[in-house]
Amino acid sequence: MTTLVMKFGGASLGTSAGLAQVLRICADESKNWERLLIVVSALDGVTDMLLDAAHFARIDHPRGYRRIAANLRTRHLALIDQLPLDRPDRNTLQADIDQLISGLLDDCLAIANKFYEELSPIHSDALVAVGERLSARIIAALLRQNDIRGVAVDGTDLLVTDDVHGNANPDLGPTAQRVNTVLIPILQRKMIPVITGFIGATAAGATTTLGRGGTDYTASVISALLCADELWIWTDVDGMMSADPRRQRNARVIPSLSYSEAADFAYFGAKILHARMIAPLAEAGLPLRVKNIFEPKLVGTLVANETGAGNPAIKAVTSVQGLSLRRPTSGSLAGVTRLVGNTLFKTLGMRSEVLIASQSSNSSFICLVIPTSIGIDGVDRLQRALQTKMAEYPEKMPWAIETVSLVTAIGDSLQRAPLLLSQVLANLEGIELFGIALGASNCSISVALAPEDAREALARVHDLIISSGSDNV
Ligand code: ASP
Ligand code: MG
Repeated sequence: MTTLVMKFGGASLGTSAGLAQVLRICADESKNWERLLIVVSALDGVTDMLLDAAHFARIDHPRGYRRIAANLRTRHLALIDQLPLDRPDRNTLQADIDQLISGLLDDCLAIANKFYEELSPIHSDALVAVGERLSARIIAALLRQNDIRGVAVDGTDLLVTDDVHGNANPDLGPTAQRVNTVLIPILQRKMIPVITGFIGATAAGATTTLGRGGTDYTASVISALLCADELWIWTDVDGMMSADPRRQRNARVIPSLSYSEAADFAYFGAKILHARMIAPLAEAGLPLRVKNIFEPKLVGTLVANETGAGNPAIKAVTSVQGLSLRRPTSGSLAGVTRLVGNTLFKTLGMRSEVLIASQSSNSSFICLVIPTSIGIDGVDRLQRALQTKMAEYPEKMPWAIETVSLVTAIGDSLQRAPLLLSQVLANLEGIELFGIALGASNCSISVALAPEDAREALARVHDLIISSGSDNV
């Protein structure tokens, strides 16, 4: 039985032109595969607006969150106005949207009444889930209207996660059972599930989210559990690019990446994929394609098992924020790494991964990455939490904490290519490097530097990719 899972991101869903493409692609692929499943994000920018609404609720600012709720309602209603829906379907959809928006206002009120000192994802996860619920219902209705039997499915009925709100992980055993009881019957009836990405629920039923960009992760877990043949991620660029195309004009498409390269690429800041989505695919040996919704004929990027062929080459460069800790003494790092680990987990739901730890006779330096899935305020939140915690032990913890940037060059088998590594470093001549690390998977080298140097460093490593010729990429 052939199975394809397709994920559509917010940028593809936000306009009627994008939706027309979604429809066309679903119509084509529903003929090519015996089982087809769709996983969708919220419309572009909606999750940010929902988080803003939650912040307004926390400071008890009803005008702020009501304005956002009204904007969201208007935006979704305007979108369905442009779609070719018949009256009963349009009315049902309007009623669904109104119900979800009124639930959002209730959630805001509940937050406002609780007077939280700081907003944590425990309070906002259920509220934020509304974005994906809205879009899944719209896509399912659009498919149905065009004789494709789409049915909206809530990720909260499917993904059983741990209770790490804001950065949850699906528990594969119970999730597999839900896939059997919820998804298989839909597929047996020859229908197409349109699943909300990004959201799940704990075994006790509390809504959780999987981290920013988490729809990818939902799609990968579902694909692996269904033993799908392929997962396709549809986006609005031609595939995975050698650098962020918004920052680096001459960035170009990477035809193929190994799972390890793709995992490092995402972990070190490529926003196109969620960092934890690769592991389930790698384990299942399930190929992933990243394709442009507006150019579906282009092959895009294929992520699959390494072929072992070819010479080591740098394929991509990324930049991500991190935190560095420095102290004017050497000695054991066990205390500080434990403190950082605990604070990281409490604040961001992340297990500690110190990327660089180095010492000289009279100083120590450690540096950690904050993946983009944590959201834009993750670095600030962690820095504040660490400063507060360390202030409790001023003598034991004389660490200065600073934000840094980590610029990472990605390419398989770098451990076998010291010449290539030296070229990366030579291209950074004149830029002060605080630390250097070769990734444990052997397909990345990262340098820590001042945030103001990141742009230049990224451009220089990218020059190396461009000048080394197209056969490397
Ligand atoms: N809507 C969520 C976000 O903005 C999840 C996703 O887009 O994948 O992070
Ligand atoms: Mg994304």
